[in-house]
Amino acid sequence: NQSLAELDPEIAAVLDGELARQRETLEMIASENFVPRAVLQAQGSVLTNKYAEGYPGRRYYGGCEQVDIAENLAIQRATSLFGAEYANVQPHSGAQANAAVLHAIATPGDKVLGLSLAHGGHLTHGMKINFSGKLYDIAAYGVDEQSHRIEMDAVREKALEARPKVIIAGWSAYPRQLDFAAFREIADEVGAYLWTDMAHFAGLVAAGLHPSPVPHSDVVSSTVHKTIGGPRSGFILSRDKEAFGKKLDSAVFPGQQGGPLMHVIAAKAVAFKIAAGEEFQDRQRRTLEGARIIAERLSAQDVRDAGVSVLTGGTDVHLVLVDLRNSALDGQQAEDLLHDAGITVNRNAVPFDPRPPRVTSGLRIGTPALATRGFGATEFTEVADIIATTLVNGASTDAEAMRARVRALTESFPLYPGLQQ
Ligand code: PLP
Repeated sequence: NQSLAELDPEIAAVLDGELARQRETLEMIASENFVPRAVLQAQGSVLTNKYAEGYPGRRYYGGCEQVDIAENLAIQRATSLFGAEYANVQPHSGAQANAAVLHAIATPGDKVLGLSLAHGGHLTHGMKINFSGKLYDIAAYGVDEQSHRIEMDAVREKALEARPKVIIAGWSAYPRQLDFAAFREIADEVGAYLWTDMAHFAGLVAAGLHPSPVPHSDVVSSTVHKTIGGPRSGFILSRDKEAFGKKLDSAVFPGQQGGPLMHVIAAKAVAFKIAAGEEFQDRQRRTLEGARIIAERLSAQDVRDAGVSVLTGGTDVHLVLVDLRNSALDGQQAEDLLHDAGITVNRNAVPFDPRPPRVTSGLRIGTPALATRGFGATEFTEVADIIATTLVNGASTDAEAMRARVRALTESFPLYPGLQQ
């Protein structure tokens, strides 16, 4: 019964160091967020001890009466939040949710059409050495070379050519909303299932600030830890329980996973409860507002003069994609400069990127974590100016001056006040 600090001071120091890092820097990785204390509590609980293979009321282990309540709550809250008939809350992660979706609605060797990884798709949408690329016959659509947007005529053309069994709508790096009704029409025209992966924008959908893919898609997968701001994990929805429920359930367990992580499922239930509230909507509004403010600042003349621009000229979502193809900086250098200023972002390939994936010519900048921290228009305006100044000044940036501006923001919005690990 020793505490972590007594038993394993090295790991305790990692936890302390990470809490300090999160408190003292500006977290702008678009796929990250800060979970509320209630989620930390559920995840770090005795529920981690419980094996519960199967589903509520149909378990392969005894003693599941408490965890059944948690899983049923998570399912009810997920279906009601997103207006779905069916939810599976067991996937350990977004990637495992996606593996289960393909397992349920396709057979290895089937043709699957998704957004190319180089244009903002996810690894699980068909990357060569991912399970998706190895098991399925992948075709890809991309963004338009001029507009950098997904043009539905081009998707239709690809679909007519590929005749896929499954069409994937969804992305990891794309700053605009998708036309789900148009995806549906194309899927119907070629006789494909439509699967939407809303991992990134699910929080915006839950808040009613982004069109919902649920009414248009056969299956929807998601993570819980990006815009939703819950525990690191995945879930799957369908508007049609009768057609897809059994197939999806058996694809998750026993198809892809063994025992579900009941502590994480309880934390998902908490996150879905929070997502149904007004504070959550306000947070998602500030998330969108922050992204718009950053896109605008990065479109100003001084930034454009430095060869830096914003892909598609703006954003409809929680992230901005910065194009550095005409800048003196590559993605790695820009990421490092912002890191030195106290801002954490990730470099990201832009479509038609001439640089290799480890370097890239772009940045992906997201606002969910800072909105959760409490930032509004005033703070995002300051953040946007710190980023713009750093990208304009490049190697001659006064990192200490930038860090002082970052410190003023982080100290005004303390993270996890009072928390000690
Ligand atoms: N799907 C999309 C669109 C994503 O962006 C991600 C995460 O980056 C995933 C799935 C995978 O989620 P996880 O990292 O939880 O496996």
